Amino acid sequence: MRYTGKLYRPPSEAHSYILQATIGCSWNNCTYCDMYRDKPVFRVRPIEESLEDISMAGMTYGDSVEKLFVADGDALILDMDHWRAILEHARETFPSLRQVSCYATSGNILEKTDAELDELRGLGLSLLYIGPESGDEQTMRRLAKGPRPSGASREDKYLYNSHVDAAKKAKASGMKMSAIFLLGAGGTERSDAHARGSAALATEMDPDFLSALTLTVVPGTPLARTQSNSGWTLPEVPELLAELRTMVGESNLSNALFRTNHASNYLPLGGRLPTDKARIVQTLDRAISGEIPLRPEWSRGL
Ligand code: SF4
Repeated sequence: MRYTGKLYRPPSEAHSYILQATIGCSWNNCTYCDMYRDKPVFRVRPIEESLEDISMAGMTYGDSVEKLFVADGDALILDMDHWRAILEHARETFPSLRQVSCYATSGNILEKTDAELDELRGLGLSLLYIGPESGDEQTMRRLAKGPRPSGASREDKYLYNSHVDAAKKAKASGMKMSAIFLLGAGGTERSDAHARGSAALATEMDPDFLSALTLTVVPGTPLARTQSNSGWTLPEVPELLAELRTMVGESNLSNALFRTNHASNYLPLGGRLPTDKARIVQTLDRAISGEIPLRPEWSRGL
């Protein structure tokens, strides 16, 4: 009920009560990300404040709260005492609560033990949103999708593998996982490698929800500096659609809800993978050939 700075949440959390239990992102280094640069110092809100906010939301919304999203950028980092208190108080306060979710990095997940993830699932944390953005290791490094050990070689797939391990660990606890990829993240140079790597990583993570956003280079970010200094360029729209076609066509998922309904995308799509794969690929082919109109540039958002 009390918020600091801009709030971000996934599109599917539009009707959720948002509890801002942390301020900012503990990593805050991804080169394209501008979300928490207004909150450069990450901090955990005192637990008393978070519990008070839940109580206030209970008095205002009560029975109508079915979903709780815990913000900001990587709230899974909260320690177990915080999580226990939040989840227990939320369960007492919102009688209709059926889902608690948050953003997580692969590092946040790997830092929790199996027993801790099991306990969090048991207390009601049921969905993690994780954004590898790419499955191409070189692209992931350029995006700075997490710390790499100082001794890591240029050939290793440390960031790719940490996302696979994190997904397996979270799923073993019974949590659902939503994986987010970023069209254009490889630039023109690695467009194809980015798309193929992302299809491979999506397959290995095997999420319950899969979504794609389209990269916008935000002025002031490290990626914007790379763009002006090194000739790195964002692919044109047909190439972005071709990336999405490769990601969908080459992925092999068990059963995921797929969406490109984020405001950044040129073509909103939805369906289940693999059931609707042929239909989605066909739609993308028609969009690439110009048969299907795209969202106009002016109506796109970050
Ligand atoms: S982990 Fe997420 S919120 Fe944090 S810097 Fe990267 S993209 Fe931004």
